Amino acid sequence: MQYDYSNIIEYLLHWFDYNARILRWRLEPKAYYIWISEIMLQQTRVEAVKGYFDRFVEELPDIKALAECEEEKLLKLWEGLGYYNRVRNLQKAAKIIMSDYQGRLPNSYEELLKLPGIGSYTAGAIASNVYKIPVPSVDGNVLRVAKRIAGSFDDITKASVKKQLENDLREIMPKDRPGDFNQSLMELGAVICIPNGKPLCEQCPVSHLCKAHQQGIEMKIPVKTPKKSRKIEHKTILLFEYEEREELTNKKQTHRMLSYYLIQKRNKKGLLAGLWQLPSLEGKKTALEIEEYISKMMQEQQLDFGILVEPLGEGKHIFSHIEWHMKGYRIKLTSKDDSSIVEIKDMINQFLLAENQESKEVKWIHAKELEDYALPSAFDTYRGYLME
Ligand code: SF4
Repeated sequence: MQYDYSNIIEYLLHWFDYNARILRWRLEPKAYYIWISEIMLQQTRVEAVKGYFDRFVEELPDIKALAECEEEKLLKLWEGLGYYNRVRNLQKAAKIIMSDYQGRLPNSYEELLKLPGIGSYTAGAIASNVYKIPVPSVDGNVLRVAKRIAGSFDDITKASVKKQLENDLREIMPKDRPGDFNQSLMELGAVICIPNGKPLCEQCPVSHLCKAHQQGIEMKIPVKTPKKSRKIEHKTILLFEYEEREELTNKKQTHRMLSYYLIQKRNKKGLLAGLWQLPSLEGKKTALEIEEYISKMMQEQQLDFGILVEPLGEGKHIFSHIEWHMKGYRIKLTSKDDSSIVEIKDMINQFLLAENQESKEVKWIHAKELEDYALPSAFDTYRGYLME
């Protein structure tokens, strides 16, 4: 039997008025801020998003700035949030808004839905909060809260269940405060009717109307079909490094040694598309295999240089459908003079480009320059080895 959600509106709004967390995009509910925050909040908690949000809107204060931003800078601003397609879609949408909507987010739910990266949840959030259009904004949090209140064992991973809830909520959306109602449901899901662990029903403003609570079945809802297990991919990460002497004019110190590292651009399509990475090989290699790999590189080259292979330990990174299980090595290059290091670098570049057909670009950078390149968090285990 369908639950009548109109009963919860008054209690939720009253609770929200006194308990809403103070967030920048709530204090300044501009369309641009709501949009950016909602995209960042997908799969990331509010507390984690705050810092990224401030940095993003300081660098790119409006849609025009977002549309015109260089890709490298854009990806760098998103570094740490993952799901880089989101920020690429943000920029695609910003360009369309500049060309087709006079630089303003469209004030219609249907038009918002046409923009890249904007689905029913984000369109609902923008339309209801900015333009006061009475449409719902349903994500996993709202589904969990609503299904608990209704005491329903519907499988929330089904698109039809989400659609039905959107229809049910659309019927009862309060015309005067649609945005606040959407936010109150989300807020309840974030701080009271929490996803992991026991919900805080004793603090809940709608506990007297909640079927799951009345029946003591809060922890059995929501029902979700278990996700397919992730595919495991084994990788060997290579940290190529060489030192270069930098002359100083300083009286106390005549020179210092600077370390340089090799980064490689990933393919334009697929996982972490177009981002920089540390060069990698498929499978987990032994130190001996790595030495053989380097020897293969040096074949027929008469360069006078040494290599030192040092294991850097194992790392793991979890994407939504894939897990990377990694083993890292530092490959330190040493040469007798500066001219041979140029040849060595060149040889490694050529070798990597030939070996890995997908990658089109490699670069040697100083650790400090990493600030200018987005190195995905998948490489965090090895980031600390890039020293100045
Ligand atoms: S009473 Fe408990 S289960 Fe029901 S909505 Fe509130 S927190 Fe969730």
